[in-house]
Amino acid sequence: MAGSYTLTMIKPDAVAKNNIGPILGMINEAGFKIKAMKYTQLTKSQAQEFYAVHKERPFYGELVDFMTSGPIVAAILEKSNAVEDFRKLIGATNPADAAEGTIRKRFAESIQNNAVHGSDSDENAKIEGDFHFSMCERF
Ligand code: ATP
Ligand code: MG
Repeated sequence: MAGSYTLTMIKPDAVAKNNIGPILGMINEAGFKIKAMKYTQLTKSQAQEFYAVHKERPFYGELVDFMTSGPIVAAILEKSNAVEDFRKLIGATNPADAAEGTIRKRFAESIQNNAVHGSDSDENAKIEGDFHFSMCERF
């Protein structure tokens, strides 16, 4: 069903601070089902490809360095209106602007080290899900 899936990554800052469990708890509490999940570390070329849309931005190099600096948890999440609802749950890119009760308000350190990724459209949710997971890794 259109709109049912989004792709998240728990980023290296949140993994390093032992926040995988509490973040997954908030995701479960908000009604998302885990369709696929893995604990992995992106290579430089994988991070460059994943964030290719930002390659002209001044922060691209640092973003790639950050996203490859340690392991991440990648997951496909299932829920009606998944992309929009998940972006509400994670909050604004900059934690200084993130609403109370959001994942980034609680766990993000900075505009770069902002704890989690969430897809920004249904089209990108599909591209990003296919980037991380094969069909036989989805349940
Ligand atoms: P994400 O795509 O990770 O869910 P987002 O959609 O809220 O985050 P984007 O504009 O897509 O934000 O930026 C991708 C990521 O690049 C951000 O999550 C953050 O880690 C980093 N980033 C964005 N803007 C800046 C900035 N001004 N300075 C440093 N890093 C930034
Ligand atoms: Mg984005």
